[in-house]
Amino acid sequence: MAPGGESLPGPGLKGTRVVLAVGSNQGNRLGHLRRAAAELQDLPLTSVLKTSSVYESAAVGPGRQGPYLNAAILIKTALRPLSLLVELKRVEARSGRRPGPRWGPRPLDLDIISFGRRRVSNRLLQVPHPLARRRPFVAAPVGELAGTARTGTADPRKTRSAVVPKTASAQVSRPCSATTTRS
Ligand code: ADP
Ligand code: MG
Repeated sequence: MAPGGESLPGPGLKGTRVVLAVGSNQGNRLGHLRRAAAELQDLPLTSVLKTSSVYESAAVGPGRQGPYLNAAILIKTALRPLSLLVELKRVEARSGRRPGPRWGPRPLDLDIISFGRRRVSNRLLQVPHPLARRRPFVAAPVGELAGTARTGTADPRKTRSAVVPKTASAQVSRPCSATTTRS
């Protein structure tokens, strides 16, 4: 949201509906997800419309890494795709994320899964995100947002790669609720 109020987002904000995937496997993971949602709401010309439940899954990446918390966030934005990517990288950096190996551990990862119906393919940005469908930890929360989630996700005790809702009450953002959650 821009300071000064001349472009306050709201129900009338003209923009594109964008699905983001958010993940964290370092530090206060739920805190990072929540802070990201709050920072997205504060971006220029951008409004958070909906957030999914929080899901937990084993890390897929190099070396030994702690498990991830993942969620999906639906925003509406009048930013262009590359401008949004730049803003997301800033939010990641403010979480303490430093450059590291691809798929290495990180306090915050923000990916653009879809940007309306637009297709973008250049050195910096590929949309729709090419790996989203193949990553259950993205597909599950994104499916929940879209209302196409399959219920009865795999039992985490049976497979390490299971993606499960963390707790019934864990949400990225609960603006009107005093419900407490564990991180
Ligand atoms: P990953 O998310 O695959 O684990 P990074 O977060 O380190 O990897 O991102 C590496 C680069 O991927 C980013 O600097 C960005 O330029 C690029 N990228 C390409 N497409 C996307 C997308 N849809 N969303 C976010 N980043 C993307
Ligand atoms: Mg990323």
